[in-house]
Amino acid sequence: MTETDIPTIDHWVGGAPWAGASPRTAPVCNPATGRVTAAVRLAGASDVDAAVAATSAAWPAWRDASIARRQSVVFAFRELLNARADELAAILTAEHGKVLSDARGEIARGLEVVEFACGAGHLLKGEYSESVSSGVDVYTVRQPVGVVGVISPFNFPAMVPLWFLPIALVAGNAVVLKPSEKDPSASLWIARLFAEAGLPDGVLSVVHGDKEAVDAIIAHPGIRSLSFVGSTPIARYIYERGSAAGKRVQALGGAKNHMLVLPDADLDLAADAAVNAGFGSAGERCMAVSALLAVEPVGDALVAKIAERMAGLRVGDGTRACDMGPLITREHRDRVAGYLDVATADGAVVVVDGRDVDVDGDPGGFWLGPTLVDRVPTGSAVYTDEIFGPVLSVVRVASYDEGLALIDASPYGNGTAIFTNDGGAARRFQREVNVGMVGINVPIPVPVAYHSFGGWKASLFGDAKAYGPHGFAFFTQEKAVTSRWLDPSHGGVDLGFPQHD
Ligand code: NAD
Repeated sequence: MTETDIPTIDHWVGGAPWAGASPRTAPVCNPATGRVTAAVRLAGASDVDAAVAATSAAWPAWRDASIARRQSVVFAFRELLNARADELAAILTAEHGKVLSDARGEIARGLEVVEFACGAGHLLKGEYSESVSSGVDVYTVRQPVGVVGVISPFNFPAMVPLWFLPIALVAGNAVVLKPSEKDPSASLWIARLFAEAGLPDGVLSVVHGDKEAVDAIIAHPGIRSLSFVGSTPIARYIYERGSAAGKRVQALGGAKNHMLVLPDADLDLAADAAVNAGFGSAGERCMAVSALLAVEPVGDALVAKIAERMAGLRVGDGTRACDMGPLITREHRDRVAGYLDVATADGAVVVVDGRDVDVDGDPGGFWLGPTLVDRVPTGSAVYTDEIFGPVLSVVRVASYDEGLALIDASPYGNGTAIFTNDGGAARRFQREVNVGMVGINVPIPVPVAYHSFGGWKASLFGDAKAYGPHGFAFFTQEKAVTSRWLDPSHGGVDLGFPQHD
């Protein structure tokens, strides 16, 4: 492909592709080949202005559409997505690199939220108190927030937008979505599918871009809320700037998820779980297990079982029969690989070195195989940093208490898991651990759509998690109405504070 053959990925505004005014673009690569496949437009502030204006113009009619009408659009979207999931999976694999089966899994978890949103009528209900005073009733209604902003990361280009869009839309909001510029096509595909499902033009806009677009979205007075998912430093920035600009903000950040294996655990089950949760999607998951705390004496046996399983993993092009694909960019691949030098310098033991991997794919791809590092010192950057790649660190600990103290000392609190056959220990862990999502013999405890997803500490800024009941609370504002239908007995002037009788 020559430069002139490379397609341009447009924004989506007013129910159609839109070029905007900014001449800036960024290359989009297929990580399995390293080749540039498209150029994505990068919006400037005036593009964001125009998109927000179009979205704001479309909002009132959508806000005023009945719940039944809004639900019917989401239901139609569900049917279309179910029927055409393979198309979207191919897009995910081509731009993100994850293997097709994993891409389908990502879509299935997004679809769950779509299905949850189809029951919006129940979740948008208010409350009613009759006769709080003589002839006076109080009731609450949930109304949409307005035009809401969603800013999503590269690692789940379909699922993360689908954590927010179905709920925001069914609740009567209009949305401006700014997906990751690294894999932008999935969000456009989703926007087209919503149009096909009957969403009125303009109610959903997709604006591509980088920091310039994000800053314009944060500052725009027409955007009433921000839902962000990405790394912790940017989440903190979005939360602080967005709150200062008067918006409601939920900003989900990075992670360093620990798996604590007690001596009584089933070590085969624990080894399977560590491999699946450590290397699925090349470790580029915010719920990946990246630190395994082995309570001695199980360390040697567990490391051996994990290494044995790793030997069977096939790394390569996600369209082939492989278990694990490439990393998202060459720069990220090199950054992750750099931690292996740090590990050696810090005295850790590299048991399986992903730099030596055999790959079923193009040599130009951003490859790094599954990597296992044992005896990682807790002062090493290998242990403290969110590496976001296929590197599983093992830390040997002497007791449950030592493991718990390490988890609690981490600045992150997204997910964690305990592996044990002792119900009492598991229950103690569930109560004591300072983390937002806990797995008991489950390594990636992502809650189903009718619960809510979110971590603690530096993994979530703001008080609303994603989807589930929190999603409906975030995308609506509650109004309390006090009502009295006048009759002659209510007359008279009284400047005192209203009391009930
Ligand atoms: P990122 O923070 O680099 O980017 C996220 C979004 O912010 C993108 O849309 C990007 O364009 C934008 N952005 C990047 N730099 C910016 C800047 N300087 N100013 C303003 N906006 C900016 O994250 P990523 O690399 O795309 O995704 C991986 C990260 O996301 C990991 O840290 C992972 O743990 C986290 N993540 C968290 C969750 C969660 O639920 N907590 C889920 C998925 C991913």
